[in-house]
Amino acid sequence: MGVVLKTEGEIELMHEANAIVHAVLDGIDERIAPGVTTYELDEWAESYIREQGAVPAFLNYRGFPATLCTSINDVIVHGIPGKHQLESGDIVGVDCGVRYKGYYGDSARTFAVGEVKPEAEQLMRITRQALELAVERVRPGARLSDIGHAVQEHVEAEGFSVVREFVGHGIGTSLHEDPQVPNYGAAGKGPRLKSGMVLAIEPMVNAGSRGVKVDADGWTARTEDGSLSAHFEYSVAVTKDGPRVLGASTLGL
Ligand code: MG
Ligand code: MG
Repeated sequence: MGVVLKTEGEIELMHEANAIVHAVLDGIDERIAPGVTTYELDEWAESYIREQGAVPAFLNYRGFPATLCTSINDVIVHGIPGKHQLESGDIVGVDCGVRYKGYYGDSARTFAVGEVKPEAEQLMRITRQALELAVERVRPGARLSDIGHAVQEHVEAEGFSVVREFVGHGIGTSLHEDPQVPNYGAAGKGPRLKSGMVLAIEPMVNAGSRGVKVDADGWTARTEDGSLSAHFEYSVAVTKDGPRVLGASTLGL
């Protein structure tokens, strides 16, 4: 369908949608702990989103059964919330999307439950840094592949690997719009970024090899080798002044 450029007014609405998403992720940060279930987190997130006058974007999307994607340990993305209790040492990727006033917001963070191993801390830190480095490349005139290149370069320098089966995306009045935003590749290729584009940038990083397998539920995507995986995502507007991370005031998490 081609890339849809957004007006400043539309970007403001997308900022509001993403502010709701970030408030959900802040709430998850307060609530996540050993003994809590991802089902409980999902119930809270759905009611919070509806109280804001927004709608969960993932619920019933292509049949997905929940508000949040909750991806524990070796799950890369698209984990389904359930009644299994989280344990100290788990890492949990939480991805949240909402629709608000006709526009979508989509962001994700990976959380530590209790005390996690140094390797897990390192994986989360490098994935978050890869996202931040990618966001820094976002400006009018940059090339689309500069984003993925920044991610891949940072991740592989640390000995981790980038998942290729899932990619970031344009976002607006649809949850997934053109262009696709891979997390790998050479710099300086693909279309030039333009003011008014909004991109969901979302590195998925495995501690081991990059292989992916999907459970029989058709959703839960895991590392093939059983290693840990982390995921962070921002919805980012391209503005004449550079990147604007929607819904969040700073790059710090
Ligand atoms: Mg997402
Ligand atoms: Mg996304």
